[in-house]
Amino acid sequence: MIVLVINSGSSSLKYQLFDMGNETMLAKGLIERIGMPGSLLTHRPSGQEPLVIRQAIADHMAAIALAVKALTEPNHGVIASMQAIEAIGHRVAHGGDRFTDAALIDKQVMAAIVSLFPVAPLHNPPAVMGIEACQQMLPAVPQIAVFDTAFHQSIPEAAYMYALPWALHEKYNLRRYGFHGTSHRFVARRLAALMQKPLEALKIITCHLGNGSSLCAVDRGQSIDTTMGFTPLEGLMMGTRVGDIDPAAVLFIMEHEGYTSEQVRDFLNKRCGVLGVSGLSSDFRDLEREAQQGNARCRLALDMFAYRVKKYIGAYTAAMNGLDALVFTAGIGENSAMMRAKICADLTYLGIAVDEEKNIRDGEGDISAVDSRCRVFVIPTNEELMIAQDTFRIARENA
Ligand code: ADP
Repeated sequence: MIVLVINSGSSSLKYQLFDMGNETMLAKGLIERIGMPGSLLTHRPSGQEPLVIRQAIADHMAAIALAVKALTEPNHGVIASMQAIEAIGHRVAHGGDRFTDAALIDKQVMAAIVSLFPVAPLHNPPAVMGIEACQQMLPAVPQIAVFDTAFHQSIPEAAYMYALPWALHEKYNLRRYGFHGTSHRFVARRLAALMQKPLEALKIITCHLGNGSSLCAVDRGQSIDTTMGFTPLEGLMMGTRVGDIDPAAVLFIMEHEGYTSEQVRDFLNKRCGVLGVSGLSSDFRDLEREAQQGNARCRLALDMFAYRVKKYIGAYTAAMNGLDALVFTAGIGENSAMMRAKICADLTYLGIAVDEEKNIRDGEGDISAVDSRCRVFVIPTNEELMIAQDTFRIARENA
């Protein structure tokens, strides 16, 4: 089965085409600046030179049409015609408490995704634009929504509730949801395969450390807690997001800086985190370089980041009453040996010890010291492949 995966943002759209016969990626692409001057598509067929098309791309419909054109183009295309596409999987950020798994998109599912706009104002509307464009372009092809929140629906009530009045929880469904579920699920499964153990026998903490960062406690295959909450703002300190903070501090900032709720939301999402503390950059490569050259605030930002990850590792080990393996993934988790070493330093009490030499690596592998009770792995995430696998499964079930 040929599966197209779509990750649709407000002004950008990413796609990947998979042949699920052998789970190979045939091509991927990125469309940028949709509806803006200077819009372009970069199409990368597997093992071939990329194709760049610069042209006006007015909306998501035009973006999907261009992606299909690139995928079927005589020189850079990988399929003969768009009829070869047998199912389409869409990344949808928020599935609320309704979706515990991916879902075939019908009128009800679409209405449910739309009903979550108030809680996911930045992410669900562009996903719907991508779905609608695909429905128009390829009306006969089954479309599947894969939710970032679905994996976390197994989190028990005691962990997902906020200490708010019950009436408010009922009125707005105000609770913790968690995000990055597709990534946490992918690396947890991959870890079990690498350890040659059933997922149901393992207690794992997955650390997705990228621009957005979250940890997940995966207890015998099920997410039982995660650091992001009602929105992706809770939990770890991130590139530009503040993470855990006393809510009274937010009120103080609003009062003293004169921010409206809209302004403070923007501030907490885009101007805080390691960018805010360092005053320099949200990119960990910049921070590592500057810290090495003696910049104290860059060093502090890195120290704070590592400390918070470490604290949650302790918390989740307690939540699961043990830990068999720790996984690092995403931009920082996969690439920063320094950050992995910093997070895992002085965790021998929990049975975590990283081998210094094994830690300096590219790609997937075990970085634990021989005597480490808990295994420590680096596993590159592949959310698109996970979405393709879910899409394939749901499309087959509904065929
Ligand atoms: P997202 O998908 O959330 O945009 P990524 O998972 O791509 O983010 O992660 C981006 C982050 O990874 C950036 O902060 C970047 O600095 C960091 N990163 C990438 N490569 C390295 C590296 N070699 N060392 C340290 N940080 C890195």
